[in-house]
Amino acid sequence: MATTHYETVPEVAGDAVSGSPDIVVMKFGGTSVADTEKITEVARRLVRAQEEGRRVVGVLSAMGDTTDELIRLAHQISPRPHPREYDMLISVGERISNSLCAMAVHDLGHEAISLTGSQAGIVTDTVHGKAKIAEVRATRINDALDAGKIVLVAGFQGVSADSHDVTTLGRGGSNLTAVALAAALGAGACEMYTDVEGVYTADPRLVPHARRLPAVTYEEMLELSASGAKVLQLRSVEFARNHDVRLQVRSTFSDAEGTWIVDEEDPVLEKAIISGVAHTDCEPLYRVRHIDAARLFERLAAANVNVDTILQVSSDEIVFSAPVEDREACEELLGGLDVEWSMRDDLGKVSLVGAGMKSHPGIAAQAFATLGGIGVEPEVISTSPIKIACHVRTEDVPKAVAALHDAFELGAA
Ligand code: ASP
Ligand code: MG
Repeated sequence: MATTHYETVPEVAGDAVSGSPDIVVMKFGGTSVADTEKITEVARRLVRAQEEGRRVVGVLSAMGDTTDELIRLAHQISPRPHPREYDMLISVGERISNSLCAMAVHDLGHEAISLTGSQAGIVTDTVHGKAKIAEVRATRINDALDAGKIVLVAGFQGVSADSHDVTTLGRGGSNLTAVALAAALGAGACEMYTDVEGVYTADPRLVPHARRLPAVTYEEMLELSASGAKVLQLRSVEFARNHDVRLQVRSTFSDAEGTWIVDEEDPVLEKAIISGVAHTDCEPLYRVRHIDAARLFERLAAANVNVDTILQVSSDEIVFSAPVEDREACEELLGGLDVEWSMRDDLGKVSLVGAGMKSHPGIAAQAFATLGGIGVEPEVISTSPIKIACHVRTEDVPKAVAALHDAFELGAA
């Protein structure tokens, strides 16, 4: 199972601790705010929620590919951008989208205020590029809500309590901003608006008859996010689970119900053995010899690498995988240790996820038989109580996903 980062419990200022079920946090991803027309559409949606009597906090991602562009710029000017300046730069995209949206709300005849992460009271540690939220000081948001304003918070960013510098929360971090605010404000709902209608049984680009799931548990969503489902950032799901924030993933472009992310006792849950198949096209696999496991994983943790699969192959050899984003950090770290190591980047990972696996034997056997039947041999297999994951050759990923999806009858009837 993936290594998890637990964020500390946010402290909440003032009377918000008791929670305000009439508050809704509405988060919109980059494709939902890709141009000014879409931002105006989002503004209308926020206004509509306010007109329905709710206190509205919007969290917008940067427009379209803005963050990618900013990252490209940084690497154009410097092979190793200075971490503080890097966060100063890449946090800018969210300021643009949220201030534009506030302007659009004004033009619709409603009051709005956009806030940076720092102004919104998102206080973090100083790990630039991957900061953890330490505290949410929600006074300013509460005051603005009390004044009848729609509050727009720039996602993906906070301020370091120690250095007072701008920090960012990792790619997809606007999700975390939204969940942390929902927890701190005691919001009745945290709605994640995106370009798909919810969480699917598999990526519909690989499996056209994949089905939207009405609800999944936090545990399942954690495994799906850790296994490559891109719809929600992993850390935001962890935060939601730890702070009991009920999430809804839904489409910006329709009124469809979407998918609820809830705990196991929630009545919206329909019990299924398997919920879905997630995949990544590339998950680098590292083989390291002559090193003590404790020492290796301490060093990887210190470098903030999110280690996934770990295998002790022999007393002298360890194999582990880590997401492609952490490749540079892994290579640098291993290069600096006095060890023999190698890396493979021709493998992806296919993961079967379902809470019902816990009480159903035979799922692994059926999964391996299915892969064997299409001539796919897993290089590495790893499991958790609710997941079976196989590293397979990248070119085999699409057919492995499709075969598992069909074998477990996950598609539309
Ligand atoms: N704009 C940031 C990113 O692209 C944060 C987000 O979209 O959630 O990673
Ligand atoms: Mg983005």
